[in-house]
Amino acid sequence: MTDEREAVVVGAGMGGLTAAHALAAAGLRPLVLEAGDRVGGLVQHARVGGIDVDAGAESFALRRPEVADLVARLGLEHATPATASTIWLPGGGRALTTPTRSLLGIPADPLGDDVVAIVGPDAAARAAADLSLDPAAGAEAVSLAELVTVRMGADLLERLVRPVARGIHGADPENLAVDAVAPGLRGALVTHGSLAAAVAATVPDGPAVGCVVGGMWRLPAALAASAEVRTGTRVTAVEREADGTWVVHVDDDAAPPVRTRRLVLAVPGPETVGLLSGVLPGEVPELRAGHPIVQVTLVLEAPELDAAPLGSGALVGPDAEVRTKALTHATAKWAWLARTTPPGVHVLRLSYGRAGEDPAATEAVDAELARADAQALLGVPLAPAQVLDSLRVHRPLGLPPSAAADPALRPLLERVRATSGLGVCGAWVAGTGVAAVVAQAEQEARRLLEGPGARDGSTPGSTSPLSAVHPPILD
Ligand SMILES: Cc1cc2nc3c(=O)[nH]c(=O)nc-3n(C[C@H](O)[C@H](O)[C@H](O)COP(=O)(O)OP(=O)(O)OC[C@H]3O[C@@H](n4cnc5c(N)ncnc54)[C@H](O)[C@@H]3O)c2cc1C
Repeated sequence: MTDEREAVVVGAGMGGLTAAHALAAAGLRPLVLEAGDRVGGLVQHARVGGIDVDAGAESFALRRPEVADLVARLGLEHATPATASTIWLPGGGRALTTPTRSLLGIPADPLGDDVVAIVGPDAAARAAADLSLDPAAGAEAVSLAELVTVRMGADLLERLVRPVARGIHGADPENLAVDAVAPGLRGALVTHGSLAAAVAATVPDGPAVGCVVGGMWRLPAALAASAEVRTGTRVTAVEREADGTWVVHVDDDAAPPVRTRRLVLAVPGPETVGLLSGVLPGEVPELRAGHPIVQVTLVLEAPELDAAPLGSGALVGPDAEVRTKALTHATAKWAWLARTTPPGVHVLRLSYGRAGEDPAATEAVDAELARADAQALLGVPLAPAQVLDSLRVHRPLGLPPSAAADPALRPLLERVRATSGLGVCGAWVAGTGVAAVVAQAEQEARRLLEGPGARDGSTPGSTSPLSAVHPPILD
């Protein structure tokens, strides 16, 4: 007994579902195999205190157009934050508005008052040295950290870029590929002569992030409707026959292996490497794990938060007295969410798991610590009795460094590209964040559709909307 499919996608996170949607839009009927009991992966729905909230990613970067385009194509709507975010600094708890003319915390005007207030005059002066540096300095940087350190110095990286990058992408700048999170920025650096000028030329006019109205979790739910998704099905092995057919084995003894000419692996890096180890020639690299992450959602009866003391929240700077790395005041940030909550009830999200922190300490984080941190950051008393409900989500694997930011992983990707009918996508390839993942998954689907596998007799029947292309992010 065999199960023949036009395309198989392994993993129903944002990468896998976006790839499946793109393949379906081109006329194929992909089968998606998902180990978990729900779709979305790190984009996850939860009901806390009777309120529908995002328990995973809660926004997407607007620097790239793909997610907003996809949201619109699916008939969903996106919203932008109702209030600005702040950077919270140690020493008495000063919350300062994130500089408006900035990209991932990189300022267009390093000597602007809003920048000096956050980083101090010395760090600002070092950052301004960018304006007179050789334009080629940093132009070959792979990671955001490398680019910022070379051009504007380590202090600006620590005090401004790191908290912002963590807040927007949930990752450290060392693990964010510049080309994935700020496409075109390195080119603009060379064209405009400095990083500050490059930011000024490329910074979006509007807000940096958006969210699907009703919750980010609606996006994978809508994408899943375009494919056949089999949840509770873990892929245990893949084989490749001499004629290029992929044979996909699952953990359900009653189900036959699935055969296909087009296979997309959209699972985390270590899983991908495991599944490909018997298929791709050559040595398979070892992938570093990420730092564990704990995220706590609190639903509070707290009318004193109606005034939104921190705007949409705070990205916590280095050496702060609190343990959290970011607080999102979700009901202040998203007007659509505020409309669904009773008067005086607020939703807060606090993220834990700084790089370098003892993983056991991160894992010990609970709702009580989150309440205390929220009280310290927001500057209003929040008694335990005000917490109506809470949700703690632990991600033991955290956010592993991506291949886009790690040149050592590129040879593996090149071998994948040379293998007909095989695609890989997801955050470990694209870089962390829904925006990068969606863009790369669309690109990978397009590559599969245009590659040799497209000439195997099951050529897609309609033109993909992806032919209205956005620039590739890895090439
Ligand atoms: C706490 C947290 C907050 C975040 N916040 C934001 C944010 O606000 N904005 C933003 O842009 N990004 C955010 N991110 C990052 C973003 O969520 C991820 O980069 C993105 O969702 C990753 O998608 P993915 O498809 O690569 O992987 P995943 O979401 O991990 O999906 C992979 C899927 O593969 C399945 N799978 C694994 N192995 C197998 C197997 N053998 N067989 C079948 N299925 C398998 C898994 O069950 C999973 O569903 C956040 C991440 C975290 C952890």
